[in-house]
Formats: sequence, structure tokens, C-alpha cells
Amino acid sequence: METITYDDLGPAKILNIYCPQVPFQAVVVVDNTALGPAIGGVRVSPTVDTHEVQRLARTMTLKSSIAGLPHGGGKAGIMVDPSRPDMERVFRIFARMMGELTEYIPAPDMGCHEKAMTWVKDEIGRVLGLPEEIGGLPLDKLGATGYGVAECAEIAADAAGVKLTGARVAIQGYGSVGSAAARFLAEKGATIVAVSDSKGAIFDSGGLRIDKLDQAKQETGKVTDYSGARIMDGSEIFAVPCDILVPAATPDVINQNNCSRIEAKIILEGANIPTTQEAEKVLASKGVLVVPDFIANAGGLIMAAMEYQEKTADEAFAHISTRIKTNSEKILEKARREKLLPRAAAELLAYERVRAAMQYREYTYPIRH
Ligand code: NAD
Repeated sequence: METITYDDLGPAKILNIYCPQVPFQAVVVVDNTALGPAIGGVRVSPTVDTHEVQRLARTMTLKSSIAGLPHGGGKAGIMVDPSRPDMERVFRIFARMMGELTEYIPAPDMGCHEKAMTWVKDEIGRVLGLPEEIGGLPLDKLGATGYGVAECAEIAADAAGVKLTGARVAIQGYGSVGSAAARFLAEKGATIVAVSDSKGAIFDSGGLRIDKLDQAKQETGKVTDYSGARIMDGSEIFAVPCDILVPAATPDVINQNNCSRIEAKIILEGANIPTTQEAEKVLASKGVLVVPDFIANAGGLIMAAMEYQEKTADEAFAHISTRIKTNSEKILEKARREKLLPRAAAELLAYERVRAAMQYREYTYPIRH
């Protein structure tokens, strides 16, 4: 198991949770709160570990910083299978056990949705991504992150000389982010040629129908139950002929084993930390434009921050579009001018704001209700 690393930003706090009666284990990492209370999703997965949560928490710090939000970065992981029948009990106990960590505000992430946020709300009151019926902005239902990915695609396509109308798109992970990205990219005229989930992948060079895909996923939970497309092994999604690839599932899926097979000209990181550092360098040398996670997938965080400020969904969408397009343009231009990877260009700007804020704060930022 990889060890936790500390640097001049954090992580500030790591809370390990173990409940032997149920049983389950969980971890919360508050990375940095110089800019404000930390927002971060709760990942539910049997394989999530402290190191992964730490890396995700740092991504949230950078995402908040570059999005200009008054928030820091944190993340939680509950180490169970999300299909467990006692998930409500697990969530309620998790919420109570981390309730004192008031500088961390939970939100949905992979393996959990708005419903789970209502359980957290009941227990500790402090949560984002709630259903609209109880005053929230349900970022997964509204497709906030996928919307931002599609807005980012407009800027990335211009920068890479790709025409978005008719561009072929492959999406790894047809969940909340992947399905919304598919819908919004299709609305911009792109053709979704391949998608995958944890059970497999499908491909149709003529384009997949989003309504049929959503229906298959809703009825059986598997994209491979879409009729009329070629079924492939999930790993094949990375090698399909396409212009834009959107990883929207788990970490480190684009790595040295598969990056040389990637045909896409643009990778929009819908998922957090989906590309290893080594793969990113290889891709850059092949001329593939990789827009980093904390730029491309900031839509969900921006909407959560808007919910915190009691804004409407329309205001949140407008903010997502402006912020993601402006940031994408800014970092791609900086990367081009200074001959940097887009990630390096974005990190320079994101770290600068956090470090500047840290000069005004001694330690973690308390949250007021
Ligand atoms: P989700 O649980 O709704 O969907 C995940 C999808 O990925 C599911 O369809 C699942 O079957 C699939 N999947 C899991 N393992 C896979 C594998 N090995 N190969 C192919 N598919 C696989 O989760 P989500 O909320 O869509 O989150 C997806 C990613 O996007 C995560 O990295 C998350 O951190 C990131 N993200 C989410 C949001 C958000 O608003 N939900 C915001 C920013 C970033």
C-alpha cells in the first residue's frame, strides 16, 4: 500500500473510520482549507483506499482554487460495495462518525447519488448535491459535470483543430458524468461512437442513440444490453477510432499499458485522476491534447458551491459555462506559450492562489452554520 505524502499544502487532516458492528471502514481527507471549507464527494467502492482519497482531495483543492471558489479540497471514501443492501445504515453511521469534521462538506461521488446525501443531511445537516425537493441542486441528475465537460470540448476542439460537429466521441464509464457528457456533446453535434461501464463496452461507428443507451442502462444497468452495437471488452474503449476520449470512471485507467493505442486527438478528463503522469507525457509527445480533471470536470463542484450560496440551477449552469471555458482557454494558451503540459500550466495557477491564501490563515478554516 502506498504511503501518505505531505507537502506545503497538506493534507491537513485524515480521519479513519471503522465500525465493527456493521461492519465497514471509511476515510475522510481534508487536504487544504485556506480558501474556505472543503467540498468533496464521498466515493463508495470496495477498492478505494486512503492514498486514492488523498489524491482526490488534492484534486478538489486545485479544482476549487482554479474555479475561483471560496472553498478548499477534501474527499471521503467508504470502502464497501455500493450495491450493499444496508447502504442507508452505512451512510448514516459514516455521517455521524465524521460529523465533527466541520470544515468538510460532503457531496456525491462515484458509487452514490442524491438519495445518500439526504441521509447525511438528516444526520449532520451539512451536505451538498441534495434533491431539489429539499432545496438542493442535484448535480448528478442535472448533469452538471457532463455539461462542463461538453463546454470544455468546444475550447479544446478549437485548440486541437477538431470540428466538434461530427466529432467521434468515446466515453469510458457511462454513469452520472459519462451519460451527461454524452447527452450534452450530442446536443453540440458530436457523434457518440463508443461507451463502456464496469460490465463491458459497445461500439457503433455510425453513432449510438443516447435515448436507447439511457434506457438500456436504466433497465438492466449494463450498456452492453443496448441492441445493435458491437460488444467489446471494457479495455477496448481506449483503442476505438475517435476524436475525443472522455474517461469518466476510475483512477489511472489511461496508463503506460494502453496510452500508445489511443487514437483520440483530445482527452477530456471527466473522471478524477484518470491518466498517469507517465501516460500524459507519452500522449503529449503524440500530439494528444489532455485537458486535466480539475479544469474539465469542475462542473459538479461549481454547482455544489452554487448550492452552498443558495443560487438557482440556471445561475449554476451559466457559471459553469463561463468558468470552464475561460479556464480552458487560459491554461491551453499558457501551455502553448510556455511549452508546458496543460496540467502543469493549470497547476501553476491553482497552487499560486492556494499559497497566497495560506499566508492569511494559520490552519484549518472553521465552518459556520
Ligand atoms: P457513477 O457511479 O455515476 O458512474 C461511474 C460509471 O463508471 C458507472 O457506469 C460504472 O459502471 C463505470 N465504471 C466503473 N468501473 C469501470 C471500469 N473499470 N471501466 C468502465 N466503466 C467503469 O460515478 P460518477 O459520479 O459518474 O463519477 C465518475 C468519475 O467522475 C469519478 O472519477 C468521479 O470522481 C468523477 N467526477 C464526478 C463528478 C460528479 O459530479 N458526479 C464530478 C467530478 C468528477
